[in-house]
Amino acid sequence: MTSKNTFNIDKEKKFSEWFTEIIQKAELADIRYNIKGFLVFQPWSVIAMEKMYDILEKILQKKEHQPYWFPTLIPESNLKKESSHIGGFTPEVFWVTEGGTKKLEEKYALRPTSETAFYQMFSLWIRSYKDLPFKTYQRANIFRYDTKATRPFLRSREFHWIEGHCAHATEEDAFKQVQEDMETTEEFLHKNLGIPFLFFERPTWDKFPGASRTFAADALNPDGKVIQQPSTHIISQKFSKAFNVKFKDKDEKEKYVFITCYGPAISRIFASIIIIHGDNKGLRFPWKIAPLQTIIIPIGETKEIIKEAEKIKKQLLEKNISTKIDNSEKSFGEKLYFWEMKGVPIRIELGPRELKENKLTVFRRDINKKETIKIKDLEKYLEKTSTEFDDNLRKQADNLFKDSIINTKNKSELKQAIEQGKIARCGFCSTNKDGEKCATIIEKEIKAEVRGTKLNEKNNSQKCIICGKKANNIVYIAKSY
Ligand SMILES: [Zn+2]
Repeated sequence: MTSKNTFNIDKEKKFSEWFTEIIQKAELADIRYNIKGFLVFQPWSVIAMEKMYDILEKILQKKEHQPYWFPTLIPESNLKKESSHIGGFTPEVFWVTEGGTKKLEEKYALRPTSETAFYQMFSLWIRSYKDLPFKTYQRANIFRYDTKATRPFLRSREFHWIEGHCAHATEEDAFKQVQEDMETTEEFLHKNLGIPFLFFERPTWDKFPGASRTFAADALNPDGKVIQQPSTHIISQKFSKAFNVKFKDKDEKEKYVFITCYGPAISRIFASIIIIHGDNKGLRFPWKIAPLQTIIIPIGETKEIIKEAEKIKKQLLEKNISTKIDNSEKSFGEKLYFWEMKGVPIRIELGPRELKENKLTVFRRDINKKETIKIKDLEKYLEKTSTEFDDNLRKQADNLFKDSIINTKNKSELKQAIEQGKIARCGFCSTNKDGEKCATIIEKEIKAEVRGTKLNEKNNSQKCIICGKKANNIVYIAKSY
């Protein structure tokens, strides 16, 4: 059965085509905007991303992060205050140089990230140990003149994220914050959205510009490439010294604060939701963030059926369940394919047979199965099924991910694992500066990257997979974008 609404692309085999096509077909984003690397986010993605913001902001506020809205522009002098930071970001900055017809005295950066905006204000706000920890965040759009190939949601020159910035009295407190950020990531990405990932400490050569330690989550795409998800960084006292962020400690001495920052990119996490949960028929949205949770499809246009459909719609909307009646001109078959492609979790079909028996036919997109329920049981059914639905998506994703991590003992095993699109685990000499040589060999010969070490994972006396020296670390190696 084919029609112009049918979507059928093998996600595993033709991932790139699948991803490009579903973005257009489901109207998630329009890439025809006339600046390269910028796109128009459409309602079907915006509604879902708004819900994602809500979930994450609630989690952050529960952990006592306060919301701020900072200016989009950052003076060049702020960016220059911390040398490794400006060094890392300079090639990616969009600069504002004119105001109206006048050339500005100082250039302003469209924020590529907001450390240098926040910390200059921290220096005005933080006075005493009693002010610490000082926990903030903002939701913001970020601009980066990224020279790598852009792809909607995964990598674009403007993206939407949350950035958390915190100041602490001690380095131990800063590390506790990093651990809290990892827990937040687990709660948001995995528990709420069903995206499996591994959290790594990045090797020295792959740290955030200006950070002393960088931790980042990696999710895996069907093309065997990992995509970096939220990262959290201890940027210790480098920035507090540059921006003069000091506090008076209990011992009456003035000390510099320890700073951490956390960056979950909502638009990129949305990409992982599309990619991880989608199937050959199209999207599958978790119930919690679905732009539309249920769709009602009347079969036949009799007065009784329309009346009953309207009644169900009203009842669901009152319960805060989003819904709509599809009374378009499309054929019944086309309607089914269309809403399956759009990823609506539950479809409700209502025809003469159903009405006569006081029943409904419901279709679940998580297991792609139909069942019949009594009309009066609909609310109870949705309450139960919505939780089951998200659990199912998460379990399906976890099972696939679990099989993607492979232990390797030598270079040929490593090569084979990478070629099969897996994440390889192996012994490695060092994730400090002296291990960079071996990492370069992996990049050149195997076309993969050392993504880092897992916190608290003990080295069981292996040898480095490249140089054969004693391995100080267990690392994970994968292809990336
Ligand atoms: Zn080595």
